Amino acid sequence: KPVIVAIDGPSGTGKSSTSKAVAAQLGLSYLDTGAQYRAITWWMVNNGIDLTDPTAVAAVAGKADIVSGTDPAAPTITVDGVDVAAAIRTQEVTSKVSAVSAVPEVRARITELQRSLAARAERGIVVEGRDIGTTVLPDADLKIFLTASPEARAARRSGELKGADLHATREALIKRDTADSSRKTSPLAKADDAVEVDTTELTLAQVIECVVTLVEE
Ligand code: C5P
Repeated sequence: KPVIVAIDGPSGTGKSSTSKAVAAQLGLSYLDTGAQYRAITWWMVNNGIDLTDPTAVAAVAGKADIVSGTDPAAPTITVDGVDVAAAIRTQEVTSKVSAVSAVPEVRARITELQRSLAARAERGIVVEGRDIGTTVLPDADLKIFLTASPEARAARRSGELKGADLHATREALIKRDTADSSRKTSPLAKADDAVEVDTTELTLAQVIECVVTLVEE
């Protein structure tokens, strides 16, 4: 029976690195659901949609053809056939994605994509996001909720962004997590049956080992 692992948590907790490594070690597929929300946001920015108007966003929620490649060794994401892996990581997309992901029609569409990818994964899949354990895959075999102190999260993020200002990074990160946690439709939240792992004092290797052990139990 395919194994389904849901890994949720705020940004900067090491979700992506952990999820990818766990999937690779266990021979499972991997899905970065944040990349899908970024991809639809990229499409909307590119098409001049007014992101402050939820009705306008909802009206075009189904227009972009978003395709995720789920090999943990080489995950891919395209929109209407265009590789957007780099384009979805810009500061513009990062600052706008919470407004788009708060629109219920967008979530319904992306959730449907996520469920169909999970159902098609032959050996199983590691799915990382904000609402996977609570909403997308409530029957997952294992649910992990990663946390870390705001300082640790900001430090990791600015490390990834190569020398970005630590204070600005911390403020932007907190602003996005607050928006993601306070939206009405499936906010960032820990499922009741999720295992919480505080990564503040752990190395990436330790977090990976911890999750792999939990899957194998
Ligand atoms: O994980 P990442 O930081 O790339 O996610 C980008 C954004 O996508 C989040 O800030 C959030 O607004 C949205 N998201 C979401 N639900 C998920 C995954 C991501 O709303 N399951």
